[in-house]
Amino acid sequence: MIAAKKLEKLVNLYHEDALSHVYLLETNDMDLAMQDILTFVKAINCQQEYNDNCDKCNLCNLVNQATLPSLIIIEPDGNMIKKEQVLDLKKRFSFKPIYTPNNIYVIKMADKLNGASANTMLKFIEEPGEAIIGFLLTTNLNNVIPTIKSRCELISLIYDESTETNEDNVYEKKANEYLEKIELEKVDKIMYNRDVILNDYPERGDVEAIFKEIFNIYMKAYNGEEISYLKNLSYEDFRFRLKLVINFLDNINYNANVELLMDKFVIELSERYESI
Ligand SMILES: [Zn+2]
Repeated sequence: MIAAKKLEKLVNLYHEDALSHVYLLETNDMDLAMQDILTFVKAINCQQEYNDNCDKCNLCNLVNQATLPSLIIIEPDGNMIKKEQVLDLKKRFSFKPIYTPNNIYVIKMADKLNGASANTMLKFIEEPGEAIIGFLLTTNLNNVIPTIKSRCELISLIYDESTETNEDNVYEKKANEYLEKIELEKVDKIMYNRDVILNDYPERGDVEAIFKEIFNIYMKAYNGEEISYLKNLSYEDFRFRLKLVINFLDNINYNANVELLMDKFVIELSERYESI
């Protein structure tokens, strides 16, 4: 029903009253991601049992025509999202939702929140008010301001590009080989930083590419894909790991010593492992 199946989980969480109030969605296809979000909005609000392309109910029609008052979609005005756009959202959502139980907002290209608009957005995320669900979308997770990133629940909405062949991706292979070792081995894990990665790929850019793949692998597993060496991890474990990788990627361009950064990653990950 939902194209990528990735937001189906959110529909279930919604019915369990367990949704987070704001999600950050990383995607490689803004249009498909937007479609999935609209499908989510219809699925939780449809006046009938929701089916694909419901055109029978008034509510789904309002969503399709982009006229549902309790759904606000924000796009950059020019090259950035302006403070006024966020203030306007805040003001409109200070009122109770109309037609639906929740007010829902979507910010396309959340990496274009900066300076004043980012600060206003942060305050809104921290004190969202009642019955508000937010989606921030980005095709460039690294450019989303870290303070915003850290307050959102992350979801990966990566759509298959069927022309791409997997065997070409050496970074992904390395990432898998590396992760399997540091996840399953009990001791001396730090040596894999050299043995598996740095001996073959000493360059900063390569290490960064491998860690981006590591992020994708954790994300896939977090979203339900079966990856044997990660199968014993809980959602909490995944969230913890995703945060470590995000920190790593934030730091790799500033920190002079890549190996130290990798050592820190392995140590923090191991400490978590031992404390469970
Ligand atoms: Zn409907």
